Amino acid sequence: NKQIIFKDYIHGFPKESDMILKTSIIKLKVPDDCNDAVLVKNLYLSCDPYMRSRMSKIDDNYVPIFTPSEPMSGDGVATVVDSSHPDFKKGDLVTAVTGWEEYTLIKSTETHFIRKIHNTTVPLSYYIGILGMPGMAAYTGLYEISKPQQGDAVFVSAASGAVGQIVGQFAKLSGCYVVGSAGTKDKVDLLKTKFGFNDAFNYKEETDLNAALKRCFPQGIDIYFDNVGGEMLDAVLPNMKFNGRIATCGMISQYNLKQGEGMRNLLYIMAKQIRMQGFLVYHYRHLYPKLFDLVAPLLEEGQISYVEDVAEGLERAPAALIGLFSGRNVGRQLIRVASD
Ligand code: NDP
Repeated sequence: NKQIIFKDYIHGFPKESDMILKTSIIKLKVPDDCNDAVLVKNLYLSCDPYMRSRMSKIDDNYVPIFTPSEPMSGDGVATVVDSSHPDFKKGDLVTAVTGWEEYTLIKSTETHFIRKIHNTTVPLSYYIGILGMPGMAAYTGLYEISKPQQGDAVFVSAASGAVGQIVGQFAKLSGCYVVGSAGTKDKVDLLKTKFGFNDAFNYKEETDLNAALKRCFPQGIDIYFDNVGGEMLDAVLPNMKFNGRIATCGMISQYNLKQGEGMRNLLYIMAKQIRMQGFLVYHYRHLYPKLFDLVAPLLEEGQISYVEDVAEGLERAPAALIGLFSGRNVGRQLIRVASD
């Protein structure tokens, strides 16, 4: 069983050497003393920015931290190899929290959130993408938090990524004017052509983010879907409309920084009565059926698309994770461990 092991807690930017490949021999069978356990073969593993937060020992961390010398873990799509659980049998396709490894023994189906995949008309990887956590983050942040109205001006940062590309397309379907920012020309092209954003800009090439936002939103922004925080959020705040809404989905620009690096324009939250609300998808699990009912027909009718960046092989998982912090991924970053 090949595994990617988390070496030890880190500070600053993660490095590939913080994760180690280890191989061991295992029996492809649930041990006799394990009741209600499921052994799965991992097909796809998710690679997400929040994993960085799991690599540091911080008080009050919002996600459980990794254990040194144990495999990294996250959402996965897998097939059941053996089971002593009455609800799962060999050959079932599932999504679950799995290890970054070829095979995972799931001893607690509850804490691993294992769910059967019944509909296989969509690509399996979508279950940890547009139909999984990134889809749910987009759904929650836009529909539950921001509540878009026809004609609203919506700005999305990290717009071509796993979450951003869905937010933009949902907002377009809600009749909004949508602009996205991304870090390369190709990503900006993708936003305008493939995902139908009204406009987009490469934030790395703009010398003045405030001017770029003013150019795209001369009347101001109704909804900011924030994936990056930091300088971009600072520039967005004065460009918000009165009663504007900000869905704080993530702040990837801050994840590798030391604490205490501040922002200047937070006062606008009060002065402009901006409602800026954070959220965690884990508290919205009950909405998955709604997400599925919305997205599955849109996918079938070709009204929405989803771009994935698939790293082939478990060995490439550490590099894929590091790449998220320099924007190397184009679309939803995944790791393919084995074929469907
Ligand atoms: P992406 O697929 O968008 O990958 C990360 C992207 O962020 C990179 O490709 C890069 O794109 C951009 N980026 C990296 N570093 C910086 C930086 N310093 N400044 C600006 N942009 C940067 O990731 P996801 O869509 O999976 O996640 C997007 C955000 O949503 C993250 O902040 C994540 O933590 C958060 N999230 C929150 C959830 C929740 O429950 N609240 C659930 C899921 C995700 P580019 O080339 O455009 O710079």
